[in-house]
Amino acid sequence: MSSYVIDPPKVVTVPVAGGGEFPVRRIFCVGRNYAEHTREMGGDPDREEPFFFTKPADALLTGGADMPYPPKTADLHHEMELVVAIGRGGTDITEAAALDHVYGYAAGLDMTRRDLQAVAKKAGRPWDMAKGFDLSAPIGEIVPAARIGHPAAGAITLSVNGKLRQSSDLDRQIWNVPETIAYLSGLVTLAPGDLIFTGTPEGVAAAVRGDLLEGAIAGVGSVRTRIV
Ligand code: MN
Repeated sequence: MSSYVIDPPKVVTVPVAGGGEFPVRRIFCVGRNYAEHTREMGGDPDREEPFFFTKPADALLTGGADMPYPPKTADLHHEMELVVAIGRGGTDITEAAALDHVYGYAAGLDMTRRDLQAVAKKAGRPWDMAKGFDLSAPIGEIVPAARIGHPAAGAITLSVNGKLRQSSDLDRQIWNVPETIAYLSGLVTLAPGDLIFTGTPEGVAAAVRGDLLEGAIAGVGSVRTRIV
C-alpha cells in the first residue's frame, strides 16, 4: 500500500504519432526568438540574450480538445511555436551534441493573457499568471526525430477561422534548437520528459470565443483547438 496521504498527481502525457505516450516533466518556453516578433513586442532582437519562462506540465491541452476562454483576461493571445521534446537529459550540453538529446518535435501554442503580461512587465513581476494558466499550452502529436529528422527550416503558420494570422520559417529563429538546448542546459539540468516551446514568430493577436486555431509546421505536424 502506498504511503501517499492524498492521491498522487497524474503523469501528464502527449500522444506520439504512430503510437505511445510521451510523459512530460517540465515545460520551458523561450521568449522573443524571432526578430519580427521581438520588434512587435517592443524589443531589440540584436541585443538580447535568450530568456526563459515555464508553464506547469498540466497546462498542456492535447487531442485537439476545445480550450475554455481563461478567466481574468480580456486579451487572450495566440503564439504558434515549434516544441522540442527532450528524450535524454543533461547539464551543459554542447551545441554539437544537443540534437542527440531530442526525442521529437511537435506543433504547439503558447497561449498568453497579454493584458496580465503587460501589467507584470510594467511592475517588474513574474509572468506565471500570464503564461502558465490552466490549459494554456495546446499541443499536437509529438513526432519522433527518428522519423522526421531535425527540422532547421520550414514554414510555421497559424490560421484563425481559416485566415492566415502567423506565417514565418523556422530558419528565422534567433536561437536555433541546438543553441537553445545548450543555453538552457547551462541554466538548469534537462531531463527526459522536458518540453521546450521555442518562441513565436510575428503576427500574435487576440483570440475570442468561437475562434478555431489551426497551426502547422512543415515536416513536423499540426495543432488545433477551438476557443469556447
Ligand atoms: Mn511564446
